[in-house]
Amino acid sequence: MNPETDHAIIIVGSGPAGIATGLHLLKRDPALAQRTLILEKARHPRPKLCAGGLLPDAVTQLGRLGLDVTEVPHIKAPWAHFTFQGRGMQMTSGKYNYAFYVIRRHEFDAWLATHARERGLTLQEETAVQAVRREGDRVFVETNRGSYTARAVVGADGANSVVRRAVQPRSTGNVARLLEVLVEPRDSNDPAALPHAPDEAYFEFGCLPDNIQGYIWDFPTQEGGAPRRCWGVYDSRVDSKGARGDLPGALSQFMAAYGYGPQDYTLQAHPIRWFDTRATLSTPGILLVGDAAGVDASFGEGLSPALGYGEIAAEALAEAFARGDFSFGDYRERVLAHPLGKALRARTLAARALFGMRSPAFQRLLWWRLQGLLKWTINHFLLNWTER
Ligand SMILES: Cc1cc2nc3c(=O)[nH]c(=O)nc-3n(C[C@H](O)[C@H](O)[C@H](O)COP(=O)(O)OP(=O)(O)OC[C@H]3O[C@@H](n4cnc5c(N)ncnc54)[C@H](O)[C@@H]3O)c2cc1C
Repeated sequence: MNPETDHAIIIVGSGPAGIATGLHLLKRDPALAQRTLILEKARHPRPKLCAGGLLPDAVTQLGRLGLDVTEVPHIKAPWAHFTFQGRGMQMTSGKYNYAFYVIRRHEFDAWLATHARERGLTLQEETAVQAVRREGDRVFVETNRGSYTARAVVGADGANSVVRRAVQPRSTGNVARLLEVLVEPRDSNDPAALPHAPDEAYFEFGCLPDNIQGYIWDFPTQEGGAPRRCWGVYDSRVDSKGARGDLPGALSQFMAAYGYGPQDYTLQAHPIRWFDTRATLSTPGILLVGDAAGVDASFGEGLSPALGYGEIAAEALAEAFARGDFSFGDYRERVLAHPLGKALRARTLAARALFGMRSPAFQRLLWWRLQGLLKWTINHFLLNWTER
């Protein structure tokens, strides 16, 4: 082995899942973290399509790593509104008195990467991993800048993961479709439309009868300190056999009520891979985390899961090195037994129930009449997993 390119661990990807894995390793086993290399195909600050909603679970996870999200430019949304055809409920986190923070991902991820470097982790940018394979007791990582080897590799390379191909040679599906746009704030020009307050966040499920298995969102955000709105549409596709709705059409129809025409924005698309309890999450020498492994099916919330996976993976890695056993045969069970795994499993079930029944009558009953039950279910089974 070439000592310059051979490492104990290689983490592929420096988004929240990759950086959290590195930072948790530093906490658990600093010597092992010193022998870890993080490979990133881009250079921070790099663009990442994401609405940037950072839930209290994510803020708690960051706090456990000694990180304070208020160092990053952000909006603190006091309320999140959940509506069907403009009517429904609003929620805040009772304990923390806000619904969620909204950050911009290029700023947030660059901030995480800076902290990782300052604490001593090695991050090599502009290195795109092209293939990963295990031979003997090493995993070989081929990149645009040559070959590297490691005892263990972590696939933190997002929804279109290259590392996942070595773990799941056949795609499992479970991919949600998303479109997102960034616009300047405007007032509604439609008296029938629910007014949107400047700092509040909105989830509208009125697109369900049009075969979109999710919602349209409108979040407050900022660009260089100037107020912006981030709009988008989430289609989970949990019912993979269901007809495919028209995402651009649904988004433009909804945004039209708030004064936006298609000429006002550029649509951007990126998938999310959601959590499936049956999916393979590891193979000898290789683990998946974050979007590469699978995140929230119900709302497409991936930031707190990405940070949580980092904690689980770091524990599995530290134990593997202590025992000299790199089979990672129990990694899936570790994820499923963790509060994050339980919440992700519940969110996949919730998505199947909520988005499987797309009739307006059922959705009206749910959002207009059963708000207490919905809030209780969301708080006890879907969110707040860091408190369990
Ligand atoms: C439109 C949209 C809106 C969203 N909104 C929200 C939201 O409001 N709140 C929320 O919680 N979640 C949201 N999500 C989900 C969230 O963005 C993801 O779940 C989260 O980014 C997952 O983090 P990750 O670290 O696993 O992957 P990523 O953030 O995708 O990071 C992967 C990293 O790996 C690098 N990489 C990729 N391939 C390679 C390679 N071959 N070699 C080396 N490096 C590589 C990438 O450059 C990147 O830096 C949204 C997603 C989308 C698409």
